[in-house]
Amino acid sequence: MDRKFFEDMEARIPRGKVRTRFAPSPTGYMHVGNLRTALYTWCIARHAGGTFILRIEDTDQNRLVEGAVDVIYKTLRECGLDHDEGPDVGGPVAPYVQSERRNTYLPYAQLLVERGHAYYCFCEKSGSEEDAGFEHIEDPCRSLPPEEVQRRLDAGEPYVIRQKIPREGTTTFHDEIFGDITAPNADLDDQVLIKRDGLPTYNFANVIDDHLMGITHVVRGTEYLASAPKYNLLYEGLGWEIPRYVHCSPVMRDAHNKMSKRHGDPSYEDLIAEGYLTEAVVNYVALLGWSPKGEREIFSLPELAEAFDLSGISKSPAIFDKEKLTYFNAEYIKAMEPAAFAKAAEPWIRQAVKNPAYSTAAIAAILQQRTERLSDIPEKLDFFDTLPEYDTALFVHKKSKSTLETSRDMLRAAIDTLEALPEWTETTVHDSLVTLAEARGVKNALLMWPVRIAAAGKLVTPGGAVEICAILGREETLRRLRLGLEKLN
Ligand code: GLU
Repeated sequence: MDRKFFEDMEARIPRGKVRTRFAPSPTGYMHVGNLRTALYTWCIARHAGGTFILRIEDTDQNRLVEGAVDVIYKTLRECGLDHDEGPDVGGPVAPYVQSERRNTYLPYAQLLVERGHAYYCFCEKSGSEEDAGFEHIEDPCRSLPPEEVQRRLDAGEPYVIRQKIPREGTTTFHDEIFGDITAPNADLDDQVLIKRDGLPTYNFANVIDDHLMGITHVVRGTEYLASAPKYNLLYEGLGWEIPRYVHCSPVMRDAHNKMSKRHGDPSYEDLIAEGYLTEAVVNYVALLGWSPKGEREIFSLPELAEAFDLSGISKSPAIFDKEKLTYFNAEYIKAMEPAAFAKAAEPWIRQAVKNPAYSTAAIAAILQQRTERLSDIPEKLDFFDTLPEYDTALFVHKKSKSTLETSRDMLRAAIDTLEALPEWTETTVHDSLVTLAEARGVKNALLMWPVRIAAAGKLVTPGGAVEICAILGREETLRRLRLGLEKLN
């Protein structure tokens, strides 16, 4: 064994009070659960002024999905979950990628063999696809004499390296959320550490890297709870300190099922495509399994980092509730700077409104306080480019006391007033109509109702008569009001 190699590696381990990592395997989309793990991991580091690392666990080449790494980078970048450290010094920080560290792991597996915590396995099926059903408890390779092992290695026989789990006894580990958990060793399998292709399994690379990267808190889903005893035995075999485990319960679609892409549950990207804002998604996802102290629910990312604490993480699974997310989204939209909202809404507005004369900013302004999701925008704006066919009955409205007669009368008066306007702005349109209502001794609503119906040709519109007329402009407004009047004559 090359002592120097291990000593050098130990000497290079970065130290810090709190060092966390998000360690995704690039096997698909960024699920809501993955995003939550990333977020909690980041918050734990940021809360403590520690270090957050991104590590791509891609040693299982069969499971790789093309483009998945890019989705991870893009999602983390958009969500503001920046990492601090990577293999390169200087320049933008690249993440750690396990396949680029492929030569790091084998020496540790060999060290474990030397210490009696792992063994070479030459069985034919070992480490192959069918490995799952293979019974290792009786694996003859567990007790091969060292000379035979050496002879077979020298002869170039293919092998895997397996962890040698004690047959007897129990293994106990501590989890920050679930407390002490004890597993009988007999229940643990001699998992493969190094595969036939010489690459580590992610279970093994994960442990080695957590140590070599000085990770203090391992944050991941409860699906890894069952593996934790095996990880512990590896740490013990290598004489390493065990990090703090933080296992988070899954995010569920309902009381019984985890969220899953297969069942049509949305990934982060899907939510964005559905018109949710990144900030709202991040805020909502943070509360799926973590409760802040107090009643407050709306948290920006820096506020989350500030407030985040392990004691708020729940043992029970959280249910993803789209309506709740929609509520958060609407709150975020309302609170946006008008210019920022206009920018976010623009592509959605332009899906429905092609006429460049109609100002995005003005349309955004009438939408902002009544939009729950950006994707709801286009259908609300269908009347701008083309006046819909509409029924004259729309001019009748109980609440404003509008009848066909009052509407005819009011429209005629509105047309006269608006035709005479020297300048066409929201203010001038507004003031002239209010003055008109006053002069006629009627309530504003009696005048505004038919104006809005004639301008939009539909019952429900974002914005009132004045705002819509201001956006449509003089010519188009008057054309529409005259058309309305014709219907009423
Ligand atoms: N690579 C594992 C995954 O993508 C994560 C393991 C861990 O965080 O420890 O699920």
